Amino acid sequence: MNTTFMPQFKDIDQLFEHQLEGLKWTIDHTYNGSAFYKKQFEKAGITPGDITSLDDLNRLPFTTGNDLKEGYPLPLLSVPERDVVRIHASSGTTGKRKVLSYTQNDLIVWFDMFARCYEMAGLTKEDRVQIAVGYGVWTAGMGFQLGCERLGAMAVPVGPGNIDMQCQFLVDLQSTVFCCTASMALLMAEEINKRGIKEQINLKKIILGSERCSSAMRAKIKDLLGLEDMFDITGMTELYGPGTGLDCHKHEGIHYWADKYILEILDPDTLKPVKDGDVGEMVVTTLCKEAAPLVRYRTRDLTRKISRPCSCGNILPMHDKIMGRSDDMIILKGVNIYPGQIDEVLSSIPEVGSEYQLHLERKADGKDYMTIKTESRQGSDSADTENIKAKIKKTIKSKIMVSCDAQICAYGDLPRFEGKTRRIFDNRS
Ligand code: ZN
Repeated sequence: MNTTFMPQFKDIDQLFEHQLEGLKWTIDHTYNGSAFYKKQFEKAGITPGDITSLDDLNRLPFTTGNDLKEGYPLPLLSVPERDVVRIHASSGTTGKRKVLSYTQNDLIVWFDMFARCYEMAGLTKEDRVQIAVGYGVWTAGMGFQLGCERLGAMAVPVGPGNIDMQCQFLVDLQSTVFCCTASMALLMAEEINKRGIKEQINLKKIILGSERCSSAMRAKIKDLLGLEDMFDITGMTELYGPGTGLDCHKHEGIHYWADKYILEILDPDTLKPVKDGDVGEMVVTTLCKEAAPLVRYRTRDLTRKISRPCSCGNILPMHDKIMGRSDDMIILKGVNIYPGQIDEVLSSIPEVGSEYQLHLERKADGKDYMTIKTESRQGSDSADTENIKAKIKKTIKSKIMVSCDAQICAYGDLPRFEGKTRRIFDNRS
C-alpha cells in the first residue's frame, strides 16, 4: 500500500517522543506568541521550561469555545497577523462565530492529514472524488478538495445538494468516491436507484463527514449502491477542519493523527482522565499548529479510547465514534450518562425503534429514578413488551451500570422534531 502521508514510527514510544517534542514546541510558541495563552500559563504557574514529560500535560490550563468567542475575530492568535494566509469559521448559530486562522504551514499540515485519510481509505491518483459538502467559510469543502489534490486524485467539487448535477457527474465523469453527510448519502442512494442509473455509475466508496450514522443506515446505503466500502472522517474547525482521523478498512475504530495532536479523554465534570475505555470528553492539544494552536481545548464531543491495537497493523491509536456532546451529560446516582450511550444500547435491541426519551425524577424516598421510554420497532408485534422491557433494563444495567425502568409505546407515538429532538426530561429538584 502507498504510504506517502503516513508517519513511519518504529513503535509507540517513538510516537510519544515525537509528541513530547511537539508539546514543548507548542507551549513555547504560545507562551511567546499569544498574550491570551501567556496569561493562562501565568495563572497556572507554568513556564515553557516546566514541560519535561507528557505527564506535564495535566498541569496545563484548559481552553474552551468561550475563549474562542471572546477572542473574536482572531482568537488564540500566536503569530503576527501578516503570517495568517486564511481564516475559516465554524457554523455555530448563536452569538459570535468561532473564527480560526491558518498560516501557510498550517494549511500544508491540514492537507497532508487529509491526504492521509484518503490514502488510508485506499484512494490513489486514479480516483475521482466527487465532493458534495459545503464550500466557503466552512472548512469542509476546502479540506476535502485540497486533500484530494494533495493526494493527486481528481476533485469534482459539486458542493452540497444539487442532485441533478451530482447524478450527471457520477455518470459522465465516472466518479469513484463520493464525500458527503450520511443523510445526503442515503438521499443519493435512493435517487440513483429511482433514476435507474446504478449500472451507469462507477461509485466504489463513500466518505462520510461529521454527522452520526447508525449501522442500519450505513448498511442500507452500502447495499443500495453496491459499494466496496464506506468510511467515517472526523474533524472540527478548531482542529484544522475535517481530516484529523478516519476508520480504516477494518472498521475497528477511528485512527486519529496522534503525531499532530494529543487526545485526552476526560470526565467533563471532574476534568480528570476517565478509566481506560470509558466515555468522556475529547480534549485536544495540537503539536505543530502555528496560527491558532490549541492547548487542552475542550471539544465537548464525547467518545472513548480504544486501547487494543487495530488488526490493520497501523500503530496510530484509535477512538470510538463520537457519541454526542458533553453538554447533554446527565448524572444519575453518581454515574455519568450520555444520550449516545442510551442510543447504543437501544440499537443493540432489535425489537425497539430508534426514538427514545429519558425521564428522571426524585421520588419520596429521596432517590433518583430513570425511566427510558421507547417505541417498538416499525411493524413489529408488541405482544412481547414485558420481555423487551426486561431486556432494556438488563442491558442498561450491564452497559451503563445504573438501574432504570422501561416503557414501550407503539411505533410513531413519541414526538418527532425537525431540528434537535428533546430526549432528556429531568424532573428532579
Ligand atoms: Zn486500522
